[in-house]
Amino acid sequence: MCTILKVRWTINPRIAPEPWIACSGCGGLKPFRSSGKIRLNANGKKLDAWLVYKCSVCDKTWNRTLFERQTVRGLAPAALEALQTNDIRWIRAQEFDLDALRRKAQHIEEFTDAHVQKEVLGETDGWTMLEIELVVTLAYSARLDRLLASELGLSRSRLQALYRSGKLQIHPDRADAMRRRVKDSTRIVIDLADQADWHSAGLAARL
Ligand SMILES: [Zn+2]
Repeated sequence: MCTILKVRWTINPRIAPEPWIACSGCGGLKPFRSSGKIRLNANGKKLDAWLVYKCSVCDKTWNRTLFERQTVRGLAPAALEALQTNDIRWIRAQEFDLDALRRKAQHIEEFTDAHVQKEVLGETDGWTMLEIELVVTLAYSARLDRLLASELGLSRSRLQALYRSGKLQIHPDRADAMRRRVKDSTRIVIDLADQADWHSAGLAARL
């Protein structure tokens, strides 16, 4: 019989990545943080949009171009509506768009501080297997072993030992998966049957 506690963890990073940009205010490369504000400019039938960043040292503004000289018809309707309503979710998606940021800056600073929202998807009495499904929709740079250690209250060396012995499985698995950054739709299955503190790990997994 399979006795399992199944949970879903949704990772919500607290701080957006910060591109390092040459600051015309205080000089030299400095990390710029998003203000969360969009500037939209209409030029005849053409639109320009920027996401406004501020130098984290001197507050100098840097306007990150999202698009230029776009026709209203050429824009995805969802993007147009998001721009007009200052849709926070859409803006957040732009803030975490690492590919777009890399086209503007050589160095992007990322942060691992996140709120992890936990839900129980299913539980059988006397469970001994813990299954965690990860939802990571925004770029998140923490290593998998660090996330599991901090959220389950288990040491990284113990998690590594469980992984090596096959009692912790990662789907899909990749070389050195425990040390790589957390990926969306990863499932982690841990057999806690022989672990004396399975109960506290189970509690941490759902709270
Ligand atoms: Zn500056």
